Amino acid sequence: MTPHKKELRRDPEYLTPIYRMALEQFGQAADQLSLDPNVRKRFTDPKRAIMVNIPIRLDDASVEVFHGYRVHHDTTLGPSKGGIRYHPDVNLGECSALAMWMTWKCALMGLPFGGAKGGIRCDPHALSRNELQRLTRRFTAELIQFIGPEVDVPAPDVGTNGQIMAWMMDTYSQFKGYPVPEIVTGKPIAIGGSLGRTEATGRGVVFCIMEAFAHLKMQPKDKKIVVQGFGNVGAHASAILQAEGCKVIAVSDVKSGLVNKKGIDIPALMKHLETNDYIESFQGGERITNAELLELPCDVLVPAALSEQITDENANRISCKILAEAANGPTTPKADKILRERGVFVIPDILANAGGVTVSYFEWVQGLQNLFWKEQEINDRLKDIMCNAFRAVLSLSISEKVDMRLAALMLSIRKITTAKKARGLFP
Ligand code: NAD
Repeated sequence: MTPHKKELRRDPEYLTPIYRMALEQFGQAADQLSLDPNVRKRFTDPKRAIMVNIPIRLDDASVEVFHGYRVHHDTTLGPSKGGIRYHPDVNLGECSALAMWMTWKCALMGLPFGGAKGGIRCDPHALSRNELQRLTRRFTAELIQFIGPEVDVPAPDVGTNGQIMAWMMDTYSQFKGYPVPEIVTGKPIAIGGSLGRTEATGRGVVFCIMEAFAHLKMQPKDKKIVVQGFGNVGAHASAILQAEGCKVIAVSDVKSGLVNKKGIDIPALMKHLETNDYIESFQGGERITNAELLELPCDVLVPAALSEQITDENANRISCKILAEAANGPTTPKADKILRERGVFVIPDILANAGGVTVSYFEWVQGLQNLFWKEQEINDRLKDIMCNAFRAVLSLSISEKVDMRLAALMLSIRKITTAKKARGLFP
């Protein structure tokens, strides 16, 4: 074998367990579609993966160097789009898997974007506001050639928020010499953010759950909901589900869970978290661990924290009728198979949590046009896109006799493949 061929056989750095999981899901859909092998090859690796070292001065005047990543998976349909995560486990494989899922999600929703994801390996809770600001600004500066409104548009994800997006927007604008609000989405309203963006992912999850209820002939009233991860997505999904008449009986965060069979007072918990970091200091139920929470009998389980939470180890004990994947990649392929055999109706991540990127798209369009929409218009358009996507996935899943994840992936991959074939292969 020539040295060149040997080199090709070595695994790329991003081929970690979570990337293998994304590849396995893609492979199943590609097989089902009998995808042209030449196209298949082009989807299996990210288009571009950037690693940066980010030196910043800490408040005690010492210098620390953090590792940052940005991965662009595919840009066939438009600029890449995806969140920025600040978490101790961020790595190249995770960003690559999340970028691939973003590609499928944007295509499924009919958005003119490819998929990206990035982040910094850090514990944002252990950094001061000033340290976080310096970290964000230096990270943005290191990525300056690889992001832009027509290139790649970041958004918030785990551990980041509107303030982080505001610092990214300001840093990018300083380099350009003029304000460029459309460089990021999920930014504060004061600098061109969109109404409805903060709640959008949770709201989209609820639109999907309501569609699933209708399909399964269930009424929302008093349906028991369990939510893992009470951050941006989990908290808003909980509040909107409660407003729809459901009963949220358990929630959790990274430290602990809370259960109350009569229903947790979600607005009171959200208020509590405005001045407290964690759920554990809230008196409104009994303590429970995250592992126990996932196995509580309920109508709908909403994992809204991190990936790989439902595995072949606990899938047999998951006791819900509907699994609405608000988080990205919460279910491993082995667990998926077990849930399928047990008849759990899974609303896959690339559909369930696509409300965020959909309103991010609205924010980007509003920024480019300098024309801002009313909140009702945003929520109505979101509902339209989410419900149409849900129905298209459900209809394909019924006609092809495949589960909802496979149907969603097949729709997305088919769309991008058509576009790839129309564009051809450069040069
Ligand atoms: P967030 O940082 O606001 O909240 C995350 C929540 O999960 C927090 O309550 C945190 O304490 C909890 N958590 C962290 N580690 C945990 C663990 N090991 N066990 C249990 N809970 C844990 O993040 P978010 O923006 O709400 O994102 C949550 C999930 O939704 C992620 O998977 C993210 O990729 C996905 N998502 C987010 C958006 C968005 O618009 N923010 C869009 C699509 C998908």
